[in-house]
Amino acid sequence: MGATLAPPRTEPAARIGPNAVIQLVAAMQARWGERFAESLLAEATEYTPDTLPEAMIDEGEARALAHLLLDRVGAAAALPVLRDAGHRTADYLLANRIPPPAQWVIRLLPRRLGLRLLLAAITRHAWTFAGSGRFVVRWVGTWPALVFEGCTMCRGLHGDRPMCDYYAGTFERLLAVLISPAASVVEVECQALGAATCRFRLDGMS
Ligand SMILES: [Zn+2]
Repeated sequence: MGATLAPPRTEPAARIGPNAVIQLVAAMQARWGERFAESLLAEATEYTPDTLPEAMIDEGEARALAHLLLDRVGAAAALPVLRDAGHRTADYLLANRIPPPAQWVIRLLPRRLGLRLLLAAITRHAWTFAGSGRFVVRWVGTWPALVFEGCTMCRGLHGDRPMCDYYAGTFERLLAVLISPAASVVEVECQALGAATCRFRLDGMS
């Protein structure tokens, strides 16, 4: 009988883009130097600064590195560096992944329309950063909120403040460059605080 049963389905590890590791290493190097970054990288992942991933990675690797950093230096020191890693990720996307004509169009449109276009593009590419989480844009009120259901980056964390500065930083830089120079992104609900989702508010948009 057993031979006729379908083999058990094993879910492949959810994957995200390598920038979640590459840019965090760069941000740690900038803040604490190469040796610190190299030692955390070796402890949390199988990579070295010379063998950083180039393709999609297991989301657990990015999470392990971010959580190790939070554990080692504490949230107050780690969160600005995670935000910097997000800024660096956005800079990479602007230089390599978002075609210049699309950037021109988004910049030329009225803010609200440009934002709709940008958020539609971000949503289409959510498979590159959300992993096993689900990214949703909620248009309620004047400006939308950005939401992760089942956020992968803060999974398993229990903190006294929101912890998803990597995502906040990525969105923040994209918005500041393409929509409004004063844009900032604030995580107002986080699963690390026991919330059902991670929710980000957009400030400085008008
Ligand atoms: Zn969060």
